[in-house]
Amino acid sequence: MDRLVQTGERGDGAPARQIAPDFTPDFTHVDTWVFDLDNTLYPASSNLFAQIDARMTAYLSSMFGVSADEARKLQKDYYRDHGTTLNGLINVHGHDPEPYLAYVHDIDLSVLPHDPALDAGLSRLPGRKLIYTNGSTEHAARVLAHLGIDRHFDEVFDIRASGFTPKPNLASYKRLMAQHGVVPGRAVLFEDIVRNLAPARALGMTTVWVRNDSQWSKQGPTYPAHDLSVVDHVADALSPFLLSLKTSLDV
Ligand SMILES: [Mg+2]
Repeated sequence: MDRLVQTGERGDGAPARQIAPDFTPDFTHVDTWVFDLDNTLYPASSNLFAQIDARMTAYLSSMFGVSADEARKLQKDYYRDHGTTLNGLINVHGHDPEPYLAYVHDIDLSVLPHDPALDAGLSRLPGRKLIYTNGSTEHAARVLAHLGIDRHFDEVFDIRASGFTPKPNLASYKRLMAQHGVVPGRAVLFEDIVRNLAPARALGMTTVWVRNDSQWSKQGPTYPAHDLSVVDHVADALSPFLLSLKTSLDV
């Protein structure tokens, strides 16, 4: 429940930003709450996404008949150059996305406990709640049900709905907004990956970085790790943040 504040310039020219306490972040302008799924609605420490990550590697290894190390390198190259591993497969090889989506999301959800605090946090948010994920709707539905929070969400905007144009491609955000009538000035995006917040911020949405220690959260390969200028708020844990913020119902 912190807010980033500008504190001056660093010696290297990059803006220096520090975290100042912000015990009641103001979200009174928000009526549309957009949430990323993986590593945002559940903690990265659950290692659930690590399962997906490992299955992406296994899929590539099998598909190309290469070692795990070679598959891993390919996976990271696709992520860097195409936004997601899947988009590398589609763009470079014309690959059918459906077998890939089914395979990588076939994971053990038992590591995710029900999350009553998150349920309570979501309950106090007035307006619509949407999921915005580079994964599949089926994966989102399973995770939301497992967490016990599926009742809160009106829609899932998945990688198919985006026309297989993933975050952080600006066209994906525009498509989300058009399909669901999202008014950016009244909407917020919660995300664990900073670079995925940039287009939302550019379009006028409020942004919340749900921070964790995983490497991919701090930086995309094409996004400088220190550039937090696109982050309006930082949440070290989502549930306490949702329980602390001020909504239109609090005024
Ligand atoms: Mg995520």
